[in-house]
Amino acid sequence: MTYPWQVSQWEQLSEVFKSGRLPHALMLSGSAGTGKKQFSSQFANVVLCEQVFNKVDDQGLLTPCGECKNCKLILAEAHPDIRYYTFELNPKGVKSSVITIDQIRSLNEFVAKSSQQGGYKVAIIHPAEAMNINAANALLKSLEEPSQKTLIILVVDQPGRMLPTIRSRCQVLEFPMPNHSQSITWLKQALPKNTSLEELLDLAAGSPIKAAELAETDAISQKQTMITELAQVLKREASAVSVASKWQKYDIHTVLDWNLSWVQQLIRFSMTHDDVLVRDDRLLKMFQYLSGKHAASTFYDLLGKIQSYSDLLAKKSNPNPQILIENLLISWAELMQKSKS
Ligand SMILES: [Zn+2]
Repeated sequence: MTYPWQVSQWEQLSEVFKSGRLPHALMLSGSAGTGKKQFSSQFANVVLCEQVFNKVDDQGLLTPCGECKNCKLILAEAHPDIRYYTFELNPKGVKSSVITIDQIRSLNEFVAKSSQQGGYKVAIIHPAEAMNINAANALLKSLEEPSQKTLIILVVDQPGRMLPTIRSRCQVLEFPMPNHSQSITWLKQALPKNTSLEELLDLAAGSPIKAAELAETDAISQKQTMITELAQVLKREASAVSVASKWQKYDIHTVLDWNLSWVQQLIRFSMTHDDVLVRDDRLLKMFQYLSGKHAASTFYDLLGKIQSYSDLLAKKSNPNPQILIENLLISWAELMQKSKS
């Protein structure tokens, strides 16, 4: 199944494949949550399927048959000629945050050998920007001297972090986030009726796939609690320290994403004063008060701070979550004190 917002990328790649001009390296580039990983797995399956040209799906798109030996191995997650290179768990069960040179050395060995089933060998690296510099340099070897019938797919969530030397050796396909109406249309058929789709999509920063995942969790009630607690900090009914000790139990990325989305809404509101942009009444009250007190530029400082925290996490400097969240809440609270000069 191809997501409806990926049909043009799928058709483009299908044409290249049918004409026998498949490059040895593809880079699927775009924000997290657009479905690139599923696209890469599906395309790997197409490349290995023995009867792929006999069949199209109900959208008329090239699709794996699901019945040949290769497809059956893939369905059983046991195909020896597809390998995934992603974050590994250490012996304590903690997920690594980098893709290491050892992993890429193993990839290089895998693509250098002939395939076991006689077709392509497909290596998928996700997220490829997590390769450290040694790993990236090791990958260059396979990109520069590709072996026969090899396809390396780099799935990239943060294109700015990829080395230009890697990017220039790949055929790049861009994956923009689907627009709002595409996302809502898709969510309507993916989720039960009476689900608050708009709110989920907001929480998921516009990604319909993440929104569908959030629908399975208590994300909405968690967000409601966090808004209550943020309001308490602003009104000095609770301290940054006590609220931070509650928030640090949540996933830190989610906490930052939500705060980021609130500050973005605050900035938009302070520039437009359009109530419709803020769907939560309590946030609206906060934003009305704060935008009366400060110019939008002040809120950009807070935005920059949250982005720098996200960068710290991405670089794996393992910041202390309690302290990081405390600092974040203190910055919010400071907005109540200072005013426009
Ligand atoms: Zn097949």
